Amino acid sequence: MSEDAAWQAPLAAIAAATPGATFLVLAIVGLLGASSAGCLNYVWGRILFGAVLLLLLLSLLRAVRRISGHAAEVRRLIERSHDANPSVDAVAARCRVRVRVLDYSGPFCALVGFWRPMVLISTSTLARLKDPELEAALRHERAHAVRCDLALAAALGFFAKLLPLPVTDLVEAYASAREMAADKRAVQECAPEALAHAILAAGTQGPTMTAAALAGDMRLVRRRIITLLRENDRPVNPYGRRIATTALLAAVLLASTMPALLGILNCHACIMSGIHV
Ligand SMILES: [Zn+2]
Repeated sequence: MSEDAAWQAPLAAIAAATPGATFLVLAIVGLLGASSAGCLNYVWGRILFGAVLLLLLLSLLRAVRRISGHAAEVRRLIERSHDANPSVDAVAARCRVRVRVLDYSGPFCALVGFWRPMVLISTSTLARLKDPELEAALRHERAHAVRCDLALAAALGFFAKLLPLPVTDLVEAYASAREMAADKRAVQECAPEALAHAILAAGTQGPTMTAAALAGDMRLVRRRIITLLRENDRPVNPYGRRIATTALLAAVLLASTMPALLGILNCHACIMSGIHV
């Protein structure tokens, strides 16, 4: 799927979020099923119910703390920003994005803000970009907004943090694919060379999940530049592979969750009733 970033991004996000989402659904259904099956009438039933409830609450707390920490970080950045000058605003209007400027001497250009996305760009990055390159950068950020990448990243961040499982590779695969997909969409309306230059101008900050940065990981920057500047890039028809991969992922999800879910839903009497305590 690596040559079909537009589809690889959401699939990688779903795969990375699946363990956390499955745990959440099974824990909630299990707690509801246990209380309706009369488990709370037994000592061991109450102990098990309390343990699952505690685990669920701790997991939710861990995920919510992470999300609120990132949201506070973004809020601080927005508060520190100010309006752009009229010429930057004119380019932003062409790209249909809002832009605010950060007085910061390092490279920075990212889409932030969950409900009303805006592009934050540092004075240093602005100074290094000519108008066509700025437009290319903003079209890349606009592509993130259109693809709802911030919402997807927030959901992924929440579910990935519910359980301490090794999903880093899938999260990185998602982050890489979403950048490639945004590049691909942006160059439908701007020159690939202009976007490649803009990525190089902004490509030294670390990756972050809550802000769709123009450029983060330098290994990915290199790959993106090569892809943008590659000549004779033959278009591929990805629909067959998209359907097959999505069907496979759906089958894996169903096979891994349905037995447990059906077991919980069909449990009319508490299994603790056999333990006479
Ligand atoms: Zn980006």
